[in-house]
Amino acid sequence: MKIAVVGTGYVGLVTGTCFAETGNYVTCIDIDQAKVESLRKGKMTIYEPGLEILFDRNRKESRLMFTTDLKEGIKGAEVIFLALPTPPGEDGSADLKYILGVADQLGHVMEDYAVIVDKSTVPVGTAEKVNAAIVKNAKVPFDVVSNPEFLREGVAVDDFMKPDRVVIGTKSERAKEIMERLYAPLVRQGNPIIFMDERSAEMTKYAANSFLAMKITFMNEIANLCEIAGADVDNVRKGIGTDSRIGKRFLFPGIGYGGSCFPKDVQALGQTAKEYGYDFKILKSVMLVNERQKTKLVPRLKEYFGGSLKGKTIALWGLAFKPHTDDIREAPALYNIKALKRAGAKVVVFDPEAVANVKKEIGKKVKYAKNPYEAAQDADALMIMTEWPEFRTPDFEKLSAALKSKVIFDGRNLYELKDMEAMGYDYFSIGRDTVTAKK
Ligand code: NAD
Repeated sequence: MKIAVVGTGYVGLVTGTCFAETGNYVTCIDIDQAKVESLRKGKMTIYEPGLEILFDRNRKESRLMFTTDLKEGIKGAEVIFLALPTPPGEDGSADLKYILGVADQLGHVMEDYAVIVDKSTVPVGTAEKVNAAIVKNAKVPFDVVSNPEFLREGVAVDDFMKPDRVVIGTKSERAKEIMERLYAPLVRQGNPIIFMDERSAEMTKYAANSFLAMKITFMNEIANLCEIAGADVDNVRKGIGTDSRIGKRFLFPGIGYGGSCFPKDVQALGQTAKEYGYDFKILKSVMLVNERQKTKLVPRLKEYFGGSLKGKTIALWGLAFKPHTDDIREAPALYNIKALKRAGAKVVVFDPEAVANVKKEIGKKVKYAKNPYEAAQDADALMIMTEWPEFRTPDFEKLSAALKSKVIFDGRNLYELKDMEAMGYDYFSIGRDTVTAKK
C-alpha cells in the first residue's frame, strides 16, 4: 500500500518507518527543510532505540521517502496520516492550527480517494473539524478516521510493531477495510483492533494518558504522606502493585510526570470538560499535585545547606523527561535547573542523549559534563532527575572521590537506603527515610 505521513517528528517518523518495514511505500512530509534534508541523507533526527536499523533498511530499499512538498508526498497515497503537533493553546486546550492548516491544504491537493488519519492526540470533535476543513476544497471523496497513537518514547518501535491494541474511530466501511489491511501485520498475535466512533476514539487517548498521569500522581501523594508518617513507599508500592486489580506499572513515585504528552493531555482533557460544563475535579488535582512535585527536592536541598544555595555547585544527572529518549519537553530536570539557578546555585549537568536539545533551550545557563563523574567533580551535592540505567549502579568509589561532599538528592529512588548508609552518604529520596551519615 502507498501511504503518506504528514509531520515527521517522534510519532511520524516511527509510524512511517514501521509501516515501511511491513512492506508499504511510505512518504514522510515535513515543513522543516533541515529535518527532511537530514533524513534524506540517512541521518536520524531523533534518538529512539531500534529505529535507526529499520530506517536505514527501508530507506535503502526505497520504501521510505522524505519531502517537504505536500502535493508530491501524498500522490497516490491510500492513507494519509496526520502526525502533527497539538501543543496547548492559550486556554490549555489542544491547538489545532497545525492539523487544520494541513487539512485545509489537503482538499486542494488530493487527486484520489484517501483515508485521512488523525494520529495526533486531538480533542473530541476534531475528526468532524478536519472533515469540514478538507471538504471545503476537495474534489474527490475521502474519509477522516481517528487512530490515536499509544507508543511510548524509548520503546516506540516495539510499541508500534506490537501494540496492545489499535483504536480506530470511523463509521466508514471503506476506511475500516483499508485500516484493517494496513494494521493486519501488527496484530497477528491476536491483539485487537478496536473499532468505534470517532469521538470515542479521540476520548480514549485522553482517558488513557490522564489515567496514567493520575496513577503516577496518586503514588506521589502516597510517597509524600509516607515521608511524614514514617512509612516506606517502596514497601507500599510492592504491597499494592502485586494486587492484580492495581498492577505493578506506573506506581513508581518521583519528581512528577513530564514529557510531551501527559502534561498537555491532562490539561487539554480538563479544558474539554470545561467546554462541556463538566467539573472534572480529579484532573484539577492531578495538575496541581504534579506542579508541586516537580521541584519538591529544591527546598529540601536549600534547607540542607542552611537556607541558601548561593555559591553551591549542584551536579545534575539526567535531563530527558525519561530514560531512552532525547526528548526534554516538560522534563522535570528543566524545572529543577530553573529553581536551582533562581536560588543562586551553579549547575553542572550530564545526560547520555539529551544534551544537544538542552543546549538549544537553555544554552550556557548550565555547564555540560562529558560523563556523570565529570559532572560530580567538586559538586556540593548530586541531584538525580532521570532514571537512566547507567545511573543505577554507578562506580560509587569514583563518585565519592569526585563529589566535594557525599550528598545525593534522588528524584527517582535509584538506590537502596542501606547501601547509602553503609557508604556514608547523606541521601534524600522520595517517600522514604532520609539517610544521614554519622559525622
Ligand atoms: P513532534 O513535534 O516531534 O513532531 C511534529 C512534526 O510535525 C515536526 O517535525 C514538525 O516540523 C512537523 N510539522 C509541523 N507543521 C507541519 C506542517 N504544516 N506540515 C508538515 N509537517 C509539519 O511531535 P510528536 O511528539 O511526534 O507528536 C505528534 C502528535 O502525536 C501530538 O499530537 C502528540 O500529542 C501525539 N503523540 C505523541 C507521542 C509521543 O510520545 N511523542 C505519543 C503519542 C501521541
